[in-house]
Amino acid sequence: MPLDREQLIAALIKIMGSDGVLHDPYDLMLYEYDGSVERAMPDLVVLPRSTEQVAAAVRLANEAGIPFLPRGAGTGLSGGSIPIRGGMVISMARMNRILSIDPVNMRAVVQAGVVNSDLSQAAAPYGLHYVPDPSSQNACTIGGNVAENSGGPHCLAYGVTLNHVLGVKMVLPDGEIVTLGSAMLDTPGYDLLGLVVGSEGTLGIVTEVTVRLMPLQEDVRTLLAVFNSVEAASRAVSAIIAAGIVPAALEMMDQLALQAIEAYIHVGYPQDAAAVLLVEVEGLSEGLDEQAAQIEAICRAQGARSIRRARTPEERELLWKGRKSAFGAIGRLAKAYITQDGTVPRTRLPQALQEIQEIGRRLGLRILNVFHAGDGNLHPLILFDPSDPDEVARMKQATGELMSVFIKLGGTITGEHGVGLEKNDYMPILFSERELDLMRSLRHIFDPDERCNPGKVLPIGRAMTGEATPLHKSHPRSAA
Ligand SMILES: Cc1cc2nc3c(=O)[nH]c(=O)nc-3n(C[C@H](O)[C@H](O)[C@H](O)COP(=O)(O)OP(=O)(O)OC[C@H]3O[C@@H](n4cnc5c(N)ncnc54)[C@H](O)[C@@H]3O)c2cc1C
Repeated sequence: MPLDREQLIAALIKIMGSDGVLHDPYDLMLYEYDGSVERAMPDLVVLPRSTEQVAAAVRLANEAGIPFLPRGAGTGLSGGSIPIRGGMVISMARMNRILSIDPVNMRAVVQAGVVNSDLSQAAAPYGLHYVPDPSSQNACTIGGNVAENSGGPHCLAYGVTLNHVLGVKMVLPDGEIVTLGSAMLDTPGYDLLGLVVGSEGTLGIVTEVTVRLMPLQEDVRTLLAVFNSVEAASRAVSAIIAAGIVPAALEMMDQLALQAIEAYIHVGYPQDAAAVLLVEVEGLSEGLDEQAAQIEAICRAQGARSIRRARTPEERELLWKGRKSAFGAIGRLAKAYITQDGTVPRTRLPQALQEIQEIGRRLGLRILNVFHAGDGNLHPLILFDPSDPDEVARMKQATGELMSVFIKLGGTITGEHGVGLEKNDYMPILFSERELDLMRSLRHIFDPDERCNPGKVLPIGRAMTGEATPLHKSHPRSAA
């Protein structure tokens, strides 16, 4: 006989205490959302403090025959932590301890619920930092970053989460605890760690992560290049990299985004520019001015009308504050927006941006662009009114058309936000049935009963293309 709800709650309270188990509908409402437009209520939420407590919760969920899923900070933008089939949400909020920092070997071991920027702050006294810096880094967790293989503005030069994770401890969907990867240079056998990074919480629950730390750079130069056309700004992106320079960061914002940010936070972004590039180079002080000058010359050759170089750390911070507040700023423009995420080869950015503009014009939707241009990782943000069914339908159509544009231009349907619940029905456009079957088989090895974060990544025939779930205002929790 499976455990019934009362038995399950009683058993969980025994392990985690009464404040570690939420089952009142009022408390559960908080866990209905993430940063996407999806929404669904869990049956209960647990807040474990250790790997063993996570394992015990998973075993009890199995005994009760209910689905379960891990949740970090809920900043995900593809619906990954939405409990679409109900069941138990396993929140990492209390697993937020930095377990060790080893400055000599440049490593740290953290619990999965550690907030991304807390780790860099803790490593700073040793002259080190954790490189992947999603714009949500003041809220999102390292476990969430591992699950989504997150990127960030400074991943252009140094690589995304996968390049900075050495090992994980995790609870498998049957409740067993395993350790994958190692702090050594190589791990013999199949790369199970590589499989888990980016698996979006569908192969188990990561409880501890061993990460690589990198030295803080000696110096930095930050530039804001202002353009009268989006095409010219996009051409400058390719030209900078073609010149053999790989900036630490190379971000683009278009006019609507600049206007929204300035109205929100007043950082001095130009209001009449079609687009700006925020470019950063870092390293040893010597040679940085020359590199910055070279970038300035390239931008001017591609049509930049002006370039502002941050002269002080405060000025640099202000330039970044605008970029990192963009999603919050844009939230003020409409009742809701959906953040899309796709990648194209960076040489195809001009065409991609033109087609995005055209889709917006044709469907009567405002689409803004704030994105990691150096990686060709686009983030079109579509504004819409969730109470207007016609506009919701057009938003969905635009989403589908955007995916087609990314694929047509040789790109893919996500750059860093994952497939989750919003993109899984686009997977067959990208992968053959045989390829999808391989993925299904892999998943079944880990989770034969499909209890661990069901309905994510692989197609289920409902998401953005199927019957709509109630949409709500997408309020990113972080204006990092
Ligand atoms: C304002 C804003 C800016 C953003 N900027 C960026 C950006 O620059 N780059 C970027 O890559 N993303 C960005 N994101 C998206 C998001 O912040 C990242 O995907 C982040 O990694 C999610 O972390 P989280 O802790 O919030 O995870 P959640 O949203 O809670 O979960 C995301 C997924 O990870 C799984 N998961 C969470 N914890 C674990 C765990 N311990 N073990 C296994 N699976 C787990 C969940 O089941 C879910 O599938 C942004 C989001 C917002 C709102």
